[in-house]
Amino acid sequence: MITLERATETLLDEISPVTRTRLVPLEQAAGRISAQDVRAGIDMPPFDRSPLDGYALYSGDIAEASREKPVKLKVAAEIAAGSFWDGTLTSGHAARIMTGSMLPAGADCVVMQEDTDDGEREVEFYAPMKPLKNICFKGEDIKKGTLILPPGISISCAHLGVLASVGNSRVLVKDRVRAGLLSTGDELTMPGEPLERGRIYNSNQFMLAGRMEQLGVHVTSLYETGDDAREVCEIIEREIAGVDIFFTTGGVSVGRRDIMHSVLERLGAKKLFWKVAIKPGTPVLAAIYRNKLLLCLSGNPFAAITNFELLGRPALRKLSGDEKLDLVWIKGVMEDRFSKPSPQRRFVRAVYEGGRVKIPEYSHSSGALLSLLGSNALIDIPEGSRGLEPGDRVDLVMLSAFAHFTG
Ligand code: AMP
Ligand code: MG
Repeated sequence: MITLERATETLLDEISPVTRTRLVPLEQAAGRISAQDVRAGIDMPPFDRSPLDGYALYSGDIAEASREKPVKLKVAAEIAAGSFWDGTLTSGHAARIMTGSMLPAGADCVVMQEDTDDGEREVEFYAPMKPLKNICFKGEDIKKGTLILPPGISISCAHLGVLASVGNSRVLVKDRVRAGLLSTGDELTMPGEPLERGRIYNSNQFMLAGRMEQLGVHVTSLYETGDDAREVCEIIEREIAGVDIFFTTGGVSVGRRDIMHSVLERLGAKKLFWKVAIKPGTPVLAAIYRNKLLLCLSGNPFAAITNFELLGRPALRKLSGDEKLDLVWIKGVMEDRFSKPSPQRRFVRAVYEGGRVKIPEYSHSSGALLSLLGSNALIDIPEGSRGLEPGDRVDLVMLSAFAHFTG
């Protein structure tokens, strides 16, 4: 039996990041990992523009203006946002201008409409204005050539805004990690089918596939089989080339129908480890087959998701290069009691909020699912624990489902 840390290291040593890239439209790029430097191809704004509704003019023309002696200028043009005026303002003239409109030649400032008489053909000014006032200069936000997206980072809505503002419609991103997922067990029935005596519905498949989608992983190969080593071998042999990692659930323990050991033997896969010193999910099994990681998770649903979070997720983190997949470890203080002693290191579902840790009331057995609802963390109880008391400080790993519009 090896420690969780040793098992994780062993997995990570065996895999390398996915290098495939893909050009995607901006509308599909949120949360994806950039695969290239992007530099701004234009200045933004692309021209000097007005930040307000008012009049563009040459400041020298109203240098003497005051309440008592207003200066009157002729309105030479009206420039709407999105259009332009090709003329040049000459002395004694102003141009009516809107927010976002291009500044005309000959103007060196803008006076807001509220500070004038809002005249149509002529307009009065009551105070001087300094040159270069109220102008958004070409390139003042983004200069052509500025690095706007470095490679290897998670694309946020802010990146999408910046990319779009300089006219990029597509962006090169890392291809999503492709995963295979096969649930095994003679007792499994797909939801929607009638449930025969002695059988249960397959929940692992939906929980794990959903989790992977949530983490940005593309589950491209999804199967369910009975405890049939030959069939499992056939599926893995056929599917492995199309995926970056392959997960199975069930059949890893010591029972007579625990077929995954013989599956690995038949495939000629290189076993990395079997059994990790954690509960639930001790009998997790890992191997390399045709250069891909085969991670065979325990069948019990809570054991399967615990194996997935603690071992599968770090592997997916490395394959994807996506730091949003990093496990987040925190400390908290117990509010509830957990009386079960833990001879082995144990992970227990919990609700973490503001430093306090509560334990859901439902069953905590590894076959029980309901206590996962509302849980957002796993308490990491060290081996030899005689139970947890209110006030005890504990380590936790967060189960946060990250949001795409961050980072
Ligand atoms: P195993 O690891 O195959 O010995 O299975 C352990 C327990 O998990 C058994 O009670 C199985 O019926 C149950 N189990 C296995 N696979 C699934 C699954 N895909 N969905 C729900 N329960 C499962
Ligand atoms: Mg089984």
